[in-house]
Amino acid sequence: MNYDFDLFVIGAGSGGVRASRIASSLGAKVAIAEDMFLGGTCVNVGCVPKKLFVYASEFSEEFSAAEGFGWNAVGTGHSWQTMRDNKDKEISRLNGIYANILSGAGVELIEGRARIVAPNKIDVAGKTFTAERILIATGGWPRKPTFPGAEYVMNSNDMFTLDYTPKKVLVQGGGYIAIEFAGIFNGLGSDTELVYRGEKFLRGFDNGVRDFVAEEVSKKGINLSFNTDIVSVEKTSRNTLNVKLNNGDVREVDAVMSAIGREPKLSGLGLENTRVSLQKNGCIKVDNNFETDEPGIFAIGDVVGRMELTPVALAEGMALARYLYNDEKINLNYDNIATAVFCQPNIATVGLSEEQALEQGREISIYESKFRPLKNTLSGSNEQCLMKLIVDKADDKVIGCHMVGAHAGEIIQGVSIAINAGATKAVFDATVGIHPTAAEEFVTMRTAAR
Ligand code: FAD
Ligand code: NDP
Repeated sequence: MNYDFDLFVIGAGSGGVRASRIASSLGAKVAIAEDMFLGGTCVNVGCVPKKLFVYASEFSEEFSAAEGFGWNAVGTGHSWQTMRDNKDKEISRLNGIYANILSGAGVELIEGRARIVAPNKIDVAGKTFTAERILIATGGWPRKPTFPGAEYVMNSNDMFTLDYTPKKVLVQGGGYIAIEFAGIFNGLGSDTELVYRGEKFLRGFDNGVRDFVAEEVSKKGINLSFNTDIVSVEKTSRNTLNVKLNNGDVREVDAVMSAIGREPKLSGLGLENTRVSLQKNGCIKVDNNFETDEPGIFAIGDVVGRMELTPVALAEGMALARYLYNDEKINLNYDNIATAVFCQPNIATVGLSEEQALEQGREISIYESKFRPLKNTLSGSNEQCLMKLIVDKADDKVIGCHMVGAHAGEIIQGVSIAINAGATKAVFDATVGIHPTAAEEFVTMRTAAR
């Protein structure tokens, strides 16, 4: 049968763009449909604008640190609107780059919302296309809270169009987004509280890291309320919000942000016209080759929910394109994928937490160092740094590496190469450090803490 395209990709985000570009470069005739913005979540309402806001929020501490080094009178006010407008300019530039990447690769961009009407047929804006294969790369969307007054609450998407600095803000959630945005608000001068329903935020991260981060972000002025959740939100006559909490307290704030996870974006996609099935968590079920239960329909990225990270969506898109159009086996390893939370100070981690290593029945040694970074001897900041290595006693391999401190993401990216290469603690010990850096601590910890 003759199809309009070999591959029809739905969603021009991280995974979809990478898969379409590589498939096209391997000779496939490829179309990609996008109904919002090129580059998807990461470029428009995720990693990139978020990191720009994190940079903005870090200046407040830098300004006060500068005084300890002899500078005076710096940092007198911040405009959220200017930050947002400048961010918008940069994102428009990136949207243009994505359009060029696609056209340069020979991928046909079809603007509009795509709906699968039959296993090889897709409708976009009233036009029907046929394709031998379909790739669903539609990403996710913020989960909506269900308490009364949820309509007054903002989500992460709304953060990027906001044009004022809320004086008082309450953030709901204990994952990446809640913690990163609590740091952004706090750094930009909002009186910030984070409420999390459980005992301790950052579930899944190393326990020592979770405790240390709780101490550090509290020291910076973020009010942490654990075992606490929102019961309802009401608008007041002063145009503020009254937030009722499950411990009976009421907070009056200017803004509430909810960050309670994301859901796969599947509505209106036409999955009912296919045999594609879902996992218990609502994400699309795929096999090891990213093929759904409908032969010829594939899915990658956040919509399959393996790890909701841009580099993972990119790696999946690349692997799938090479599998389909270059006969390469898919051999993705999800172990030892480094990740960072851009709160202040940063968290970055690769490999196992202490708890995961023990659950796996491994005998381990823990190397740990908590210290005051050199810069803070003059900056006046009381921020501390944590570094932690988990070593398997059976073969001396470093199986986990965790850091909380300035530039942790930059540092752990390098260390993750060593860990993926199977470096032992002896290799770390034999590595000569760079002095004076915080990172050198990773090669100078000699005595196991336990
Ligand atoms: P997306 O990038 O979401 O792309 C999906 C695309 O499909 C979208 O453009 C959407 O409009 C389009 N689409 C959906 N349905 C249709 C349809 N029916 N028809 C046409 N188009 C459709 N990850 C990191 O690694 N580092 C970070 O620092 C980081 N920060 C983040 C911060 C925030 C606030 C958020 C929300 C996420 C962050 N992430 C981060 C996660 C990262 O953004 C995602 O994991 C990544 O974007 C997933 O890529 P994807 O291709 O699966 O989906
Ligand atoms: P996360 O899954 O990281 O965290 C969700 C948080 O919300 C958890 O603390 C969870 O609690 C809590 N929660 C879930 N449901 C409810 C509910 N009904 N009521 C109250 N609290 C609830 O999601 P995020 O939204 O923070 O981020 C989504 C994903 O995007 C991340 O997992 C990450 O993969 C990616 N991301 C990556 C970033 C990075 O790489 N730096 C930055 C931002 C996002 P509990 O733990 O108790 O379930």
